[in-house]
Amino acid sequence: MADITLKNSRTRSLERLDPIVPGKVSMYLCGPTVYDRAHIGNARSAVVFDQLFRLLRHVFGAENVTFVRNFTDVDDKINARAAETGRPISDITAETSQWYLDDMGALGVLEPTHMPRATAYIAEMVTFIEDLIDKGHAYAKDGHVLFRVRSFADYGKLSGRSVDDMIAGARVEVAPYKEDPMDFVLWKPSADDIPGWDSPWGRGRPGWHIECSAMSHAILGEEFDIHAGGSDLLFPHHENEVAQSCAAGHPFARIWLHNEMLQVEGKKMSKSLGNFFTVRDLLEGHGPGGKGIPGEVIRMVFLGTHYGKPMDWTAEKAVEAAFTLHGYIETIAMMGDIEAAKSLDVDSEIVAALADDLNTHEALVRLRRLRDQPDANALARNLVFLGFFNWQQLEKQVETYRDGVARLSDLAARLQEVRLKAMETKDFSEVDRLKTRLVEANVSVQMNKSGVNLRPEVDFDPSKLEDL
Ligand SMILES: [Zn+2]
Repeated sequence: MADITLKNSRTRSLERLDPIVPGKVSMYLCGPTVYDRAHIGNARSAVVFDQLFRLLRHVFGAENVTFVRNFTDVDDKINARAAETGRPISDITAETSQWYLDDMGALGVLEPTHMPRATAYIAEMVTFIEDLIDKGHAYAKDGHVLFRVRSFADYGKLSGRSVDDMIAGARVEVAPYKEDPMDFVLWKPSADDIPGWDSPWGRGRPGWHIECSAMSHAILGEEFDIHAGGSDLLFPHHENEVAQSCAAGHPFARIWLHNEMLQVEGKKMSKSLGNFFTVRDLLEGHGPGGKGIPGEVIRMVFLGTHYGKPMDWTAEKAVEAAFTLHGYIETIAMMGDIEAAKSLDVDSEIVAALADDLNTHEALVRLRRLRDQPDANALARNLVFLGFFNWQQLEKQVETYRDGVARLSDLAARLQEVRLKAMETKDFSEVDRLKTRLVEANVSVQMNKSGVNLRPEVDFDPSKLEDL
């Protein structure tokens, strides 16, 4: 079994993954708040930790990995969206959750083992909060329940901040129901027109942080192996999760992983700069360049940068990745055998790269070497392992490519015939017509003395040749 080392943001050091229950791994990832399409920054987190999920399944066996990713379906942003649109909250959250699954699915993200919705765990949250009150770490005031930050000595350890620094620099909200400005909300009252649940403190709804503590506890237990999320969640969200769970007496997560943020063309992504893209924008071509980008291309761009480094999304990288993937499909179509590839083991150097703190960049370097060798079947096996395609998708891509090449060989013969005739009649209009249609289907057309050579290029579209 490959040793997996991961950079634990809690200890700031590389640590060997040594599961609490030998042979079984448990992991929690903070999921989306469902009120809108996921932007590409959200997707980076889903994709990099999907790669970890895939590695863990490979090393420990799929049945031995429990991966939880939640849906935050109670949140003031959702309430605001409902008020804006006049639509019921449940419609918005159901629709947006499905969008998320569809969009992540297009990027090759596997569905986690469990996808709990916060609203299905309100009772667990209430119990959790009551326990914190009993233990003196929380207090109720005016329909609110607050976590008493000063009661938890380790507060700030995960993110490396001291409480006093936080107070000095933070935008902490002072409120009459707070004992201390640092205290954060576990429960808050709901007005009649927004979602609320009965509780010992009146009708209300949970704060955001408590849901991850309560759901990870309900599904994974008091202690689990890995907690992951974006670095933007480190403070206050993850710091508060630690405070809640550890104050309740749970050991909580052993290893914390944080992916760094994503920029677009060297700039922070923002709606005001006009460089804000949802995953759907890229897939459907509302993004840079105006052409849809296949999910596997987006995935390749993401995996080209180590999760612990900031990543820059550029149109140029997407073009390069599309070109690379086209070359891989070509190699497999020309030399590979998918059935034989299915029985191969995953490449050990790719596993080793991923086991080294999820070095996806190095895994992609190795993938390229398999192409250069070339070892078409190993290439196919590892493209599937790395989540670019499932077998069915890869088979389809390869078949389309092969059919296209066969069609091109017929068309090359026909074009040569038409060309020879045109040399006699000096009427090249039919030659030009065929050539234009081929180029539109992304075929490179070379004509010289020895004949016509047609070759599919990136984005080759055989459907455009059907009526030729
Ligand atoms: Zn969380």
